[in-house]
Amino acid sequence: MQSDIEIANAAVLRPITDVAYETLGIPEEHLVRYGHHKAKVDLPYLTSLAERPLGRLVLVTALSPTPPGEGKTTTTVGLTDALHGLGHRSVACLREPSMGPVFGMKGGAAGGGWSQVVPMTDINLHFTGDFAAIAAANNLLAALIDNHVHHGNELEIDVRSVTWKRVLDMNDRALRQVAVALGGHANGFPREDGFDIVVASELMAIFCLTESYADLKRRIGDIVIGYTRAMKPVTAREIGADGAMAVVLRDALSPNLVQTLEGAPAFVHGGPFANIAHGCSSVIATRAGLRLADIVVTEAGFGADLGAEKFVDIKCRKSGLRPDAAVVVATVRALKYHGGVALADLGTEDLAAVEAGMVNLRRHLDNIRHAYGIPCVVAVNRFPTDTDAEIAKVVDLVAAEGVRAYPATHFADGGVGAQDLAKGVLETLDSPSPYTFSYTYDDDLSLTEKVEAIATRLYGAGLVTWDAKARRRLTRIETDGYGGLPVCVAKTQYSFSTDPASLGAPSDHELHVREVRLSAGAGFVVVVCGDMMTMPGLPRDPSASRIDLADDGTILGLS
Ligand code: ADP
Ligand code: MG
Repeated sequence: MQSDIEIANAAVLRPITDVAYETLGIPEEHLVRYGHHKAKVDLPYLTSLAERPLGRLVLVTALSPTPPGEGKTTTTVGLTDALHGLGHRSVACLREPSMGPVFGMKGGAAGGGWSQVVPMTDINLHFTGDFAAIAAANNLLAALIDNHVHHGNELEIDVRSVTWKRVLDMNDRALRQVAVALGGHANGFPREDGFDIVVASELMAIFCLTESYADLKRRIGDIVIGYTRAMKPVTAREIGADGAMAVVLRDALSPNLVQTLEGAPAFVHGGPFANIAHGCSSVIATRAGLRLADIVVTEAGFGADLGAEKFVDIKCRKSGLRPDAAVVVATVRALKYHGGVALADLGTEDLAAVEAGMVNLRRHLDNIRHAYGIPCVVAVNRFPTDTDAEIAKVVDLVAAEGVRAYPATHFADGGVGAQDLAKGVLETLDSPSPYTFSYTYDDDLSLTEKVEAIATRLYGAGLVTWDAKARRRLTRIETDGYGGLPVCVAKTQYSFSTDPASLGAPSDHELHVREVRLSAGAGFVVVVCGDMMTMPGLPRDPSASRIDLADDGTILGLS
């Protein structure tokens, strides 16, 4: 079997100008080309389409992720190709991969097998430079903060309270905690600082929730970078950073257009983490897709308790976007894993384990339909080790829930492998929804009540408890006037609980909040439950050690 990169490297790509015009009707003059196969679509052009009716939005989510991976991105691409192949004007909206995981453990994030977006190596590496722009703008603010303190600290910032960190797009545990401004008088006032990975930054979340240049500048201005000695929040606007940061991000804000292996269009734009941030590609790209195409297929990170929840409660709430249907990706392997089978034994047929693992998928299906109010289908992403009996079992179990499941082989077969799924999605889109779209909680609940609503309604938790420090911080955030914001729960993606080893559908567990952080520019309050990594480390055997450059310039070993 060919590897992802072998398939991608051998692909014959169409000029991006042709893809843009033929699939989405975008005239060449509105493209800013990066070589032959990547282009940004000019933001002012997209803004000029404001009066166009919107297409329909399909959200791809999943059951609780397992270590072998479920294939949300792969399915997003496969479904887009299938719809494209059936003659529909479809577009995928995906997150930009971070180089941290590319060189670390997870590898790239441009799909897999015959369902990939290309040029795969470009997308997984520097792409069009958006992450570099976000890092530069983020670090400009960091520099301006230290500079403000150096030149007299007129705002009376308490340097011990500065929460705005520096960032880079690499896994580097050595930079998690650092001391800056060492070396004497000329170098400023020494303080403790740290680096996060770009995708964990508030600026990445802002970038992805922004609607326009004006909105970008306003959100940046609202960032709270720390506090004065009198505990008054200090904003990026007060530092005088908002205009210059927006300038650094100006070009990056135009969404990136690429193609799938089958020539369907794909916007790949922005890529926030799904724990500390909301885990969805940019609102600008989603809206562009909805104006240019009839069906937008987009992915939210992690499982439906995290990614889809934030898609609904953060992205949709802020933007007014509404998903018309959801596709829940499930695999036989993930169901068996949730049913108690060890990682090493996932290749062996086990119908009882599939049935036992169904508790996990069942709760996600309930949440999507009854908490978010989105009609859904299940995509059974087929892996080579799955048996026919196991696939049939999943279809039956899902049918018993009143939901249709479609086995799909797009990884092996490309778009034709997802045609049944595509037809199922079309049928769902064309039928009146029996559900009413709704958020998990209302804006006017207290922050505590919002967390409780998510924990009890979606996670099956029995109670929410708070560290005393987290509780004090929450009170402070509410006193400062940020109590109306939605919450963004940062917890493990592997379980409905905060214990990654608690598989299936745990009930009556305790959700313990360890820490609370304000992302005032992005417009949410991060509630940290359990450990959260905002600067990952590299594993003992990182992917970087297998990635290589051939003498003819071909990139090898990316997966
Ligand atoms: P997610 O978006 O859910 O994290 P991806 O689509 O990135 O998942 O897929 C995770 C990994 O699994 C990728 O390496 C991908 O190539 C692989 N993969 C996905 N679907 C299949 C499949 N049906 N058969 C084999 N490998 C697959
Ligand atoms: Mg993905």
